[in-house]
Amino acid sequence: MTSYDVIVIGAGVVGSMIARALARYRLRTLLLDKAADVGEGTTKANTAIVHAGYDAKPGTLKARLNLAGNAQYDRVCSELGVEFDRCGTYVVAASAEERISLDELYARGRQNGVPGMTLIDGAEMRRREPSVTPQAVGALYAATGGIVDPFGLCIAAAECAVLNGVELALETEVTGIVREGRRVAGVEIRKQMPGGNLAVQKLASRWVVIAAGLWADDLLHSAGLDGLSITPRKGEYYVLDRVAAGQVHTVLFPCPTAFSKGILVTRTIHGNVMLGPNSVSISDKDDLACTREGLDEVMQGALKLVPGLDRRQIIRTFAGLRATQRPTGRSNTGDFVIEVPREVDGLLLCGAIESPGLAAAPAIAAYVVDLLRGAGLTLVERPDYDPTRPVQPRFSHLSREEQQALIARDPRHGNIVCRCETVTEGEIVAACHAPIPARTYDALKRRTRLGTGRCQGGFDTPLAIEIMARELGVSPLDLTLKGGGSRLVTRQTKAVA
Ligand SMILES: Cc1cc2nc3c(=O)[nH]c(=O)nc-3n(C[C@H](O)[C@H](O)[C@H](O)COP(=O)(O)OP(=O)(O)OC[C@H]3O[C@@H](n4cnc5c(N)ncnc54)[C@H](O)[C@@H]3O)c2cc1C
Repeated sequence: MTSYDVIVIGAGVVGSMIARALARYRLRTLLLDKAADVGEGTTKANTAIVHAGYDAKPGTLKARLNLAGNAQYDRVCSELGVEFDRCGTYVVAASAEERISLDELYARGRQNGVPGMTLIDGAEMRRREPSVTPQAVGALYAATGGIVDPFGLCIAAAECAVLNGVELALETEVTGIVREGRRVAGVEIRKQMPGGNLAVQKLASRWVVIAAGLWADDLLHSAGLDGLSITPRKGEYYVLDRVAAGQVHTVLFPCPTAFSKGILVTRTIHGNVMLGPNSVSISDKDDLACTREGLDEVMQGALKLVPGLDRRQIIRTFAGLRATQRPTGRSNTGDFVIEVPREVDGLLLCGAIESPGLAAAPAIAAYVVDLLRGAGLTLVERPDYDPTRPVQPRFSHLSREEQQALIARDPRHGNIVCRCETVTEGEIVAACHAPIPARTYDALKRRTRLGTGRCQGGFDTPLAIEIMARELGVSPLDLTLKGGGSRLVTRQTKAVA
């Protein structure tokens, strides 16, 4: 039986960051995910904000790891070549009552040790963001808040891990955690085989790390432990065309409610504007459908902050699910649950990693490594560990001269496949041959921005399918949107008999 030192279940931003942190040591590590690409869970659908750290209750893991994670973002994103902008964030008060809650947030931020916070008045807020509501009476500015490309970060971390020797298995579902008495001995997996058959297999490991987002509780239960119960809490969003970009330059939060940080209006790292999320508890962990009521709530909330938003600039809706825990045995404070459960040996749990899980991810990874070390895992540094990964140039970001030089070196960059986002054939080819190759249309989208503009793939999809099939050596009929049965093409219509 194949045997590992550590198996990490879940290749979201948390699992991928953990895998990268472990790659620094002489270990045989396996990162696995049931999806067809890394980052297909909550990591692909969130607000993408690197929170400053004033939200979380002082003294919690959330507060500590948010602050520590935020502080690591410049270094991590520079090592991995990921887009990150420490543009600052605002919480806007629109009434005298709300103004009081700014003081509370400010005081909490001070307690958490957040640097660079200032309270400003309504006039100053409007000077900085002229589209903000005329009702604004004040705001809390957090200079260390920022925006990032969340799936870019996850892909980059996983690629760095793989380049440093971590094994990655996609479309590999852990169906149970295997125990031998007190000891966790490995996992049982179900894997999609070529031809569509499913193979069931056991993989042995000295340590198993659960970083499975919404499914962390189910996996914990499969190890015979309880005390964690995850309820999905849906958040829906609108994405606006880049033409709306002039309306917001940073991140505008309303004053938070007891349940969420509220519906915000933010610029994205890619230059769009995003509105959302609402917050609704649901029961189905796979339900990513947007609803009429939810989207109306999002638009109403966003208009309260920026009244001039134009619905005609909407190009996309999507939803993400927060891994919220019901108050249970392991923590009843709404905190992250990151621990080595005492009941067994060889298991580490990352549970209830809801917001600010993205901001905290680099610090969660470091904390997990410390916990493993503390629990007896021998960590010997590898002298050849490289914290970077090769980054492909983004054609649309280059100067005219740089574009011409690139086309001269590789004429496939002269073929623009996605007109809205100016993505070239050369970029698609590179994504298909990356350390973690894009094998689905969505994977390609997340790596290149293809299909994310105004036409939402209307123009590029047939061309992209053709190029991907050629580069991956598969039939267009085998290509999917996101793995499983999500085929892009069902049959050929103009084949010569
Ligand atoms: C609406 C919303 C807004 C948010 N906004 C922010 C924000 O602005 N800033 C911030 O810091 N955080 C934010 N968050 C939180 C942040 O997105 C999450 O904390 C983070 O993405 C969690 O990452 P993860 O790796 O733990 O989970 P996921 O990304 O869900 O990864 C878990 C992975 O485990 C895999 N998996 C599950 N079960 C199995 C199994 N049995 N076998 C194999 N694989 C399995 C899944 O396929 C998935 O890929 C937001 C979340 C939501 C929903």
